[in-house]
Amino acid sequence: MNVLVINCGSSSLKFQLIDSETESVLAKGLCERIGIDGSLTYQAGDNEKVTSEKPMPTHSEAIQFVIEALTSSESGVVKSLSEIGAVGHRIVHGGEKFAKSAIINEEVLAAIEECNDLAPLHNPANLIGVNACLKLMPETPMVAVFDTAFHQTMPAKAYMYGIAYDYYDKYKVRRYGFHGTSHSYVSKRAAAFVGKPYDGVKTIVCHLGNGSSISAVLNGESVDTSMGMTPLEGLVMGTRSGDLDPAILEFLAKKEGKDVFELMSILNKKSGVFGLSGNLSSDFRDLETAANEGNDKARIALEVFAYRVAKYVGAYVAAMNGVDVIAFTAGIGENSGTVRKSVLNYLGFLGITLDEDANKKRGEEIQISTADSKVKVLVIPTNEELTIARETVELV
Ligand code: AMP
Repeated sequence: MNVLVINCGSSSLKFQLIDSETESVLAKGLCERIGIDGSLTYQAGDNEKVTSEKPMPTHSEAIQFVIEALTSSESGVVKSLSEIGAVGHRIVHGGEKFAKSAIINEEVLAAIEECNDLAPLHNPANLIGVNACLKLMPETPMVAVFDTAFHQTMPAKAYMYGIAYDYYDKYKVRRYGFHGTSHSYVSKRAAAFVGKPYDGVKTIVCHLGNGSSISAVLNGESVDTSMGMTPLEGLVMGTRSGDLDPAILEFLAKKEGKDVFELMSILNKKSGVFGLSGNLSSDFRDLETAANEGNDKARIALEVFAYRVAKYVGAYVAAMNGVDVIAFTAGIGENSGTVRKSVLNYLGFLGITLDEDANKKRGEEIQISTADSKVKVLVIPTNEELTIARETVELV
């Protein structure tokens, strides 16, 4: 079956068409600047990427262009819509309602909408994508795959905040965690890589990208993860602050004369390694280059990042009473040997020695700890779209 995977943001829409039997990507692309002007970048198989300007006042036009590209006689990869067996939608927040993916129907749509409060920037945009697809492909089954679902196995001691229970009862204020499809995919691949049963291994997954999170996966279940009620908690990220003393909000509000909304925007968009580096960059390639050239703020940003990752790994070793495998993934985790080395420098106490040669390789699943290390450290390229396609096929 061919599965169209859709990841819809407020002004963008990423898509992949995946043949679920061979698990190959038939075509992929991106619609950008929806509601402003609009462009479609489309790549069929290994062909060159082609970008064209297209007016996209709403997501409906964007999806229409995607369908036209996929079915066109020149660049298309299927003859007609009927060759698309199902659509898998990435949905950011499923709250406590969704511990698994779900076939989209009226009831599921209403339940997703009820989670909008928990992710006001993401869920409404995800739903716009779902509704646009439903309009254009009413006969095609659709599945919602949630970023939060994998972490619904966390015990209360991991997901409750130290605030009045009332806030949980009334508003479901608790930790949810994100990047679930990635943590799920990578922890499964990691168990297979080391030849252990998924339900008999302790794994720490370090998803280090522009957004970063770590999870503790014990016997196939997420028991803790670093992001919280929103993706702001936990690691220092590209532009997000991660954990900080909440009293800083009041302090800065007074000093800078800003309200809570402005401060939240600063914590989400102007903080992390971007803010730490003096607004130099959120991209680790730029930061590594600058640090090598003697830029102190860039060096400190990289040190803060690695130290925070290492502290979370240490915490999750305690949470699981040990660890068998540590897996690095996502843009930074897969590509930056320097960051992996900085993190692992803190973890010698676990009996880990870095294999320097393996740590230089890229683009493949690989073990980067030496054969005699007590804990296996791996790099596992993540594949969230494939996970969404697999979940979709399983349900339809
Ligand atoms: P992601 O959010 O998973 O797509 O990761 C994107 C981030 O990965 C970028 O912002 C960079 O910071 C980082 N990244 C990508 N390639 C490299 C590289 N070769 N070296 C260091 N960092 C990289």
